[in-house]
Amino acid sequence: MPRPTAIRKSVSDLRVPPNLDDYGSARAGFSWAGAAQALAGLPGGGLNIAWEAVDRHAAGPHAGRPAFRFLRADGSERELAYAELARLTNRFCNVLRRLGVAKGDRLFVLCGRIPELYVAVLGALKNGTVVSPLFSAFGPEPIRTRMNLGGGKVLVTTESLYRRKVLPVRDGMETLEHVLLVSEDGAPTRVPGTLDLATLLAEASDDCEIEPTGPDDPSLLHFTSGTTGMPKGALHVHGAAVTHYATGLYALDLHPDDVFWCTADPGWVTGTSYGIVAPLLHGVTSIVDEADFDAERWYGILERQGVTVWYTAPTAIRMLMKAGAGLARAHRFPALRFVASVGEPLNPEAVWWGLEALGLPIHDNWWQTETGGIMIANTPSQDIKPGSMGRPLPGVDAFIVRRREDGGVEVVDKPNVEGELALRAGWPSMFRGYLGQEERYRKCFAGELYLTGDVARRDEDGYFWFVGRADDVIKSAGHLIGPFEVESALMENPAVAEAGVIGKPDPTVGEVVKAFVSLRQGYQPSDALRTELLAHARKTLGAAVAPKEIDFVATLPRTRSGKIMRRLLKARELGLPEGDLSTLEGGA
Ligand code: ATP
Ligand code: MG
Repeated sequence: MPRPTAIRKSVSDLRVPPNLDDYGSARAGFSWAGAAQALAGLPGGGLNIAWEAVDRHAAGPHAGRPAFRFLRADGSERELAYAELARLTNRFCNVLRRLGVAKGDRLFVLCGRIPELYVAVLGALKNGTVVSPLFSAFGPEPIRTRMNLGGGKVLVTTESLYRRKVLPVRDGMETLEHVLLVSEDGAPTRVPGTLDLATLLAEASDDCEIEPTGPDDPSLLHFTSGTTGMPKGALHVHGAAVTHYATGLYALDLHPDDVFWCTADPGWVTGTSYGIVAPLLHGVTSIVDEADFDAERWYGILERQGVTVWYTAPTAIRMLMKAGAGLARAHRFPALRFVASVGEPLNPEAVWWGLEALGLPIHDNWWQTETGGIMIANTPSQDIKPGSMGRPLPGVDAFIVRRREDGGVEVVDKPNVEGELALRAGWPSMFRGYLGQEERYRKCFAGELYLTGDVARRDEDGYFWFVGRADDVIKSAGHLIGPFEVESALMENPAVAEAGVIGKPDPTVGEVVKAFVSLRQGYQPSDALRTELLAHARKTLGAAVAPKEIDFVATLPRTRSGKIMRRLLKARELGLPEGDLSTLEGGA
């Protein structure tokens, strides 16, 4: 039976009153200046992310509340209360001062999701030092390239990561002055050319006056996922906290008693903006799982930790779907009240799966490393149209535009017309540059608009629908085909776990659609299944849009942040150079 096109919501169905109730009036009454009032500002004036996130709560009634609950791989737990986090981050800031590390200097963190990572990020922000968390699975070369591009002066890492990944390339890290090592066995580390972090922290004072940073001072440096090419280093500012607060309120619906779990690693922007900053700004408790994905473990965490708000990604959801419905049914999630997803298009099948497996639909939202925070979202009280990213949040003005020959753009006013997604520039968490790529940064803007590089359409109700990245959109016989639409149609077959779609050059029609499909547990590739998938796609999408070829593959290449790398599927299919693979999952 065909599924309905919308999931109707009503405020009376929600367990807590939503922070965003009436969409129209929330937008009309919103201003970024007004939103900034929710933050206190530094006592002497100015704005600092860490002060807003940590010290403000540590000085108030939430001092003893856990800011983070770390779940170790062995099943043990460690909590860090707001007051303790304030003390440790003060100490870390003092360590940096003792080493002569100043405001504007760059500090990189290369750690798993252990407490020291969070202390280093927030402590460095207190010092006005710019932080760049790197994903710990990177190999030596990607680490070296990023450190050099960012001019890293300090590196915080663990002893084993240092030995395996940094030492082989340390001579090539031109700006690196200090390496602070986290011991893994409790005893101080004694590695030549490094300092033991625990010893330095033990010697540092608990008292610390925060560097008087302002909203435009740099705070975090994040590298993009490298889905479309060489990753870019996007620079953010302390003022981003205003967006993090407002989006934590509206898009994640955070309430003070929430137990929040953002599954992203802080090596990616989601893991920092929403794995560290936004939940702390709201004074809630965050779960941090130090272990890697495991379907059984994740269901167990949702259940046992009493997670109320869960923020995850399509790739994780697809893996849970792949693991089968039985596993989900073996668990109960009575505390869970809101689930959101970001990072890739969320296939309608996944939204419905949420309803069946978790008892809640999954709310897709859209943003980028460059936007620093959530821009377009499905929120608790608004109807969901599965397959749509939702509507622009208060403070966000989104447009569909067409680029003109002269470099300018035209806004497309009509609904349901595809074009590039653009945002009115000026929201607080907007990136302020691509490191070392001034010209590329400049080209992201046309007048007052920021051009996202994604193709989308807006429907008559103001919902935005992702079509594809500008680089991935397929042009076939005069049609513009978005890979997402084709992938979603293929996923309607219960055998399909994941699909990646590319355009393959063709002398007659320009490009033909080719799909790569991986299957769920218990299904085998066969010609009969291929024929069935092709027929279903032709029926639902039409012959012009349906794939002409389908290859079965065991897995699809994806970035370490979990996105399908269509550019790699295409390069491999056409025998072209594979380009930068530093973010390829399973790569070196
Ligand atoms: P690179 O810019 O290096 O190619 P990337 O764009 O994947 O990598 P991110 O900033 O991590 O790096 O990802 C942002 C992009 O992810 C968006 O521009 C969009 O293409 C995609 N994306 C994020 N959320 C969604 C969503 N809800 N629906 C569709 N696409 C999404
Ligand atoms: Mg991008």
